[in-house]
Amino acid sequence: MKNIIVADDQGFCWGVRRALDIVSKNGKVLIYGDLIHNKQVVEQLEQKGKKIIHQVSGEEVLPVVITAHGTTVENLDRFKELKLDIVDTTCPLVSKIYRVGRELEEEDYHIVIIGDKHHVEVKGIASRMKDPVIVKNEEEVAEFNIPDKVGIICQSTFSMEKFDKIAQRIKAKVKEAKIRNTTCSPTRKRQESAASLAQKVDIMIVVGGYHSSNTRKLKEITSRYVESHHVETASQLKKEWFENKNEIGITSGASTADWIVDEICRKIREYT
Ligand code: SF4
Repeated sequence: MKNIIVADDQGFCWGVRRALDIVSKNGKVLIYGDLIHNKQVVEQLEQKGKKIIHQVSGEEVLPVVITAHGTTVENLDRFKELKLDIVDTTCPLVSKIYRVGRELEEEDYHIVIIGDKHHVEVKGIASRMKDPVIVKNEEEVAEFNIPDKVGIICQSTFSMEKFDKIAQRIKAKVKEAKIRNTTCSPTRKRQESAASLAQKVDIMIVVGGYHSSNTRKLKEITSRYVESHHVETASQLKKEWFENKNEIGITSGASTADWIVDEICRKIREYT
């Protein structure tokens, strides 16, 4: 008999729930970029008249939604210039990173952002800082000429463990460093919960969008302890993964809806 255990902390974070609530109350809207990195949830939104756009022309008559992980100052200025109706769902925990960065700058620290420079959130943070340095791993720290006095912050969904290692590497390289771990608490709890569950089971299934950085990080964490597979939907599960596995752990990224996890559990039960 197989035992399926779902992690205590997994699925939609409150920042994503908040963004979805705001969007659902606003009728037809244009969503600038991916509201969440989950194809299935985005398809459901589109069926309800919410359209994803990646550019604005100024001709838009519907409100334009800024997503949970924010946008750049340049984009905001442009939207205002074009007099677009804006619905801002930026997560308060992302806005907090902007504040932490500005406070460090006021104390004359040069900002180093640990994160993925291609991610919308990191672009948004960087646009609010003065000439920040962005690094995503220890190798990049070695390559960079980092200023002497640095204030270190990070992307909200960054791996806590990696953040500590990279921040310490930067600290060793500069005269003075002030480290502010700006990973958000839902991300921290999901990572801790995934690591703890992965140590008790025979296999982990990590559910979430292939483009979701926080889901990929969960898979990276669980893989350290046990065989782990990242899937977007139940149809991607393979029966042979579960042969001779009795304890099956499930976790999911911050943009994964409960119904997707329910479908995964149902499908695994069918295998038993
Ligand atoms: S992952 Fe964290 S920062 Fe991002 S939307 Fe969720 S709660 Fe907010």
